[in-house]
Amino acid sequence: MLSYQHGYHAGNAADVHKHLILLATILRMQQKSSAIHYFDTHAGKGMYDLRDAQAQKTGEYLHGVQLALNLRDDLATQPQWQHYFSALAAVNQGDDNTLEFYPGSPALVADLTREQDRHTVFELHPQEHQLLTAQESRQTGYVIYGDGLQGILQQLPPKTPRLLALIDPAYENKDEYAAVATTVSKIMQRCRHAVVLVWYPLLPAARHEELLQRLATELQQPILQSEFHYKAMSGERGMYGSGMLVINPPWQIEAEIETLLAPLLPAYAPIYGAPAQLQQTWLRKEND
Ligand code: SAM
Repeated sequence: MLSYQHGYHAGNAADVHKHLILLATILRMQQKSSAIHYFDTHAGKGMYDLRDAQAQKTGEYLHGVQLALNLRDDLATQPQWQHYFSALAAVNQGDDNTLEFYPGSPALVADLTREQDRHTVFELHPQEHQLLTAQESRQTGYVIYGDGLQGILQQLPPKTPRLLALIDPAYENKDEYAAVATTVSKIMQRCRHAVVLVWYPLLPAARHEELLQRLATELQQPILQSEFHYKAMSGERGMYGSGMLVINPPWQIEAEIETLLAPLLPAYAPIYGAPAQLQQTWLRKEND
């Protein structure tokens, strides 16, 4: 049974890390005109009301999107941040610094989809799916109710020459790490040029290491690993950071992510006693 609801976490530090990498990847890929099919295997409900009981209970967005918004004048010199802030502005009508809504990955991608592109998203939670479909398709892409890991495999190869997949599970049970590794291996066997983004949480139990090890040994493609450590690990529970793998990363994306997120790191010092850290490395290099 699915119990995870992203409304408790929307706009948190992990979403900022994940969504900036997503936008940076799309903008790089769109430097060529050939069509892209975007897949979002775990879509969520698409739009999040930050004034509702879920968001207010955790207040996580205050340490994510709100911190970024406070630094907008410094960040918005970069096109990826400009897209992020204009997506926020489109759904927040109040004064510049007050957030009411947060657009999830389907909305962020839909904003950038070009005439020639395709956009398919999957959601398995019945209520989240219903809320997603209640929005207009130009804000969400084409929505499919079902398991996104099986669903994406059924759609391969896409009709477009290029493919970008975001795989962003909640990892509610530990088997999901293995299921993600198996799905990514199959995607890369069928579409060896696919660009795939895989999000994972940094938790003391470190279950993501199984996922990393499997992908490093099973894939032939280059894999960039980007981790945003917003606080120190302590105790046995609690997420302390956000991880993202970029398989077949677009050219220069590593340096671009660094430039995008570096100005945000000091903002975590007053909250957690030390600046956040961005740690990036190659899990597999080209020609390894
Ligand atoms: N990608 C979204 C974003 O960035 O805005 C957030 C997604 S949230 C972390 C994960 C979502 O996956 C939840 O809404 C959950 O209901 C859904 N989910 C869980 N298992 C799934 C599955 N096997 N297939 C599709 N969706 C699933």
